[in-house]
Amino acid sequence: MSRPRIGVLAIQGDYDAHSQALWEAGAEPVLVRKPEELASVDGLIIPGGESTTFLKFLERDGFLGALRTFVQDKPTFGTCAGCILLAKDVTHPPQRSLGVLDATVERNAYGRQIDSSIETGETQLAGGPLEMVYIRAPRIVKTGDGVEVLAERDGFPVLVEQGHLMAATFHPELSSDRRVHQRFVELVRSWQARQRQKQ
Ligand code: GLN
Repeated sequence: MSRPRIGVLAIQGDYDAHSQALWEAGAEPVLVRKPEELASVDGLIIPGGESTTFLKFLERDGFLGALRTFVQDKPTFGTCAGCILLAKDVTHPPQRSLGVLDATVERNAYGRQIDSSIETGETQLAGGPLEMVYIRAPRIVKTGDGVEVLAERDGFPVLVEQGHLMAATFHPELSSDRRVHQRFVELVRSWQARQRQKQ
């Protein structure tokens, strides 16, 4: 089976760990640093980091506009800061976003003391409990009808899927379990198959 080319937005955050995880999950990772590089990938991961810093970089060179177009219909997986960027509504404080994931996301929702932690919990993914690494994590406080919740923490979604989009409030690239990246690679493969049918 050929490896789908999946970009990792590489302007800030832990993009190298995502590249490695994508490779292990059966994809060909491509670091994306310029808007024109989006044309050569069939999916994209927006990594964790600091969403305000992402926005600052993206506002240069028309990158934000190119990314907005990409995420409208191409598979995109946002983790942590990436999840914040995908959400339609961002609070605490309110901030601009790509506005495609039908969800309200509260930044830095876990406060100072427990701002980072490693938890293990049940998910909808086959294969038993999953380790989840949280770093100054946001909280998905509300989701629309089209959003499927794949895992929760304290009753709030932490891993979601909405058609061609996936989002996690934790950092799957920092665990050795590759099921989350595999799920995204599968999503990209099905998207590619649908594109081929259209041609
Ligand atoms: N707290 C960060 C933000 O608001 C996200 C943290 C992360 O990506 N690990 O952008």
